[in-house]
Amino acid sequence: MKDKIIVTGGCGYIGSHTVITLIHHNYEVVIIDDLSNSSPQILDRIESISGVRPHFEQVDLKSFEATQAVFKTHKDAKAVIHFAAHKAVAESIQNPLMYYQNNLFSLLNVLKAQQENSINHLIFSSSATVYGNPSKMPITEDAPTQRSSSPYGNTKKIAEEILEDFTNSQSEISVISLRYFNPIGAHASGQIGEFPSGIPNNLMPYITQTAAGIREKLMVFGNDYPTKDGTPIRDYIHVVDLAEAHLKALERLLDASATSSLEVFNLGTGNGFSVLEMIKAFEAVSGRPLNYEITDRRPGDVPEMFASTTLAKNVLKWEASRNLKDMIQSSWTWEQNLRSELK
Ligand code: UDP
Repeated sequence: MKDKIIVTGGCGYIGSHTVITLIHHNYEVVIIDDLSNSSPQILDRIESISGVRPHFEQVDLKSFEATQAVFKTHKDAKAVIHFAAHKAVAESIQNPLMYYQNNLFSLLNVLKAQQENSINHLIFSSSATVYGNPSKMPITEDAPTQRSSSPYGNTKKIAEEILEDFTNSQSEISVISLRYFNPIGAHASGQIGEFPSGIPNNLMPYITQTAAGIREKLMVFGNDYPTKDGTPIRDYIHVVDLAEAHLKALERLLDASATSSLEVFNLGTGNGFSVLEMIKAFEAVSGRPLNYEITDRRPGDVPEMFASTTLAKNVLKWEASRNLKDMIQSSWTWEQNLRSELK
């Protein structure tokens, strides 16, 4: 058994896939999750896929006392991967205080508890949303960050600023912040995947739920953008590729290979697909037509986002290996087979 790693939000979408990758590489995983947007059954699924049941602690990271207590119990951990956060853009616009409180208090508490228990490595879940509406494609990590149009996006931008100040202030804790582009897809077993509560905000779960008959039709938010077919372009990335990037980042921190106390990497494929291309690709993979309608633009959407992958390739030694067909096929399998069984 290798080192013990704390994974906050380990029952969530990206967290659960990362936990499986870590277990496959013999790490001992402690999941901390408040189950506010995930199911405890995920632990059974993780066990069935990996053969190992991770330690589980149901803790609300907004409470410093609770965070400190659980970190003290696991002070032999070597690193923290901090996924736990609220992530629904529309909900964050309705309820900004909930988002600032949850996403920022939890980060502050994790950092303080790490400091008090000398757990000196952190991987932070950031997002390409920190780039706002970037002027140059592909987006490189040195592009300026911008105020987001949503409180959710702003929590990621502010979190990175907090991490910058924190890592500048003392040398003990080193951090890698990973800026995800558009994660989709599911584990090849079909046993875990994205499980949005209520009406999905994101394109892929909306597509699969429409095809499954849970939603009547997909609304395509605008076809008058300055792109090849008028619909916005995004860099979709397979969640298992993302999970593997977390493993690379972890190894980089544990080997002390990081060259500064805060490193930032884009996690994308470098390829952009439009909404209409995603619909066509889904129809080809699933063999069924998708009911959709063009409607107005969604406020805050930007025309085009795709990653420069050079830094991740050269420094993190990681690049995405799964293609769009793998992403869509696994999302669709997950939707059809097992999603409905989770409570
Ligand atoms: N989108 C859409 N209908 C939906 C959900 C999303 O047309 O029901 C579009 C959205 O306008 C964007 C793309 O799909 O261009 C990806 O949206 P998502 O919310 O998944 O990711 P983000 O906008 O955060 O990149």
